[in-house]
Amino acid sequence: MPSERQFRDTLGRFASGVTVVTAADADEAQGMTATAFTSLSLDPMLVLVCVRRYAWFHDLVLRAGGFAVTVLAARQREVSTWFASPRPAGYAQFTPWRWQRAPGSGAPLLDGGLAHVDCQLADAMPGGDHTVLVGRVTHLAVPAPDADPLVWFRGAYAGLEPVAVTG
Ligand SMILES: Cc1cc2nc3c(=O)[nH]c(=O)nc-3n(C[C@H](O)[C@H](O)[C@H](O)COP(=O)(O)OP(=O)(O)OC[C@H]3O[C@@H](n4cnc5c(N)ncnc54)[C@H](O)[C@@H]3O)c2cc1C
Repeated sequence: MPSERQFRDTLGRFASGVTVVTAADADEAQGMTATAFTSLSLDPMLVLVCVRRYAWFHDLVLRAGGFAVTVLAARQREVSTWFASPRPAGYAQFTPWRWQRAPGSGAPLLDGGLAHVDCQLADAMPGGDHTVLVGRVTHLAVPAPDADPLVWFRGAYAGLEPVAVTG
């Protein structure tokens, strides 16, 4: 069997964008940095995010029945670190940041993000120590179409580098 170190080193070669996924109900809101986010289906429009079973966000999203996704820009590294670290509970964790409510789920969408996706929870499937949350997309927005993305590669933040195009 491969070790956990080998798993992390190998899968860490798969570069990804960085998101903050959020959920809210009448009393509480919760955000969490997540790279395990991807589009799943075009018809119907579905996305998925894989969330550790014991994360606070996990239980709230199941109660709330929806979630929102902010795709982070390169200049939002601090936002990513904040939502991946110990922080105040509930709405207080959003106080340092400017945000607005997503139109469908009511979950916080962070200002300064490249893209916003709002979802109804369509399915929740067990995946080892994580749960695969499937969201049916209800609203989309691209508030910063030309901004560069924050990138996660080999366990560290990175940016995009220009690639020489041939032919
Ligand atoms: C680049 C990157 C990518 C990541 N990608 C993923 C991913 O795809 N999937 C994934 O599952 N994880 C991912 N993580 C890890 C994840 O972001 C962190 O584990 C994050 O802290 C989880 O947040 P959480 O609040 O849901 O859970 P926890 O880490 O369990 O809780 C964090 C904080 O929540 C507060 N809190 C919230 N509600 C309450 C309450 N009711 N009572 C008391 N305290 C409360 C506490 O203050 C605590 O400090 C990633 C991390 C990084 C850095």
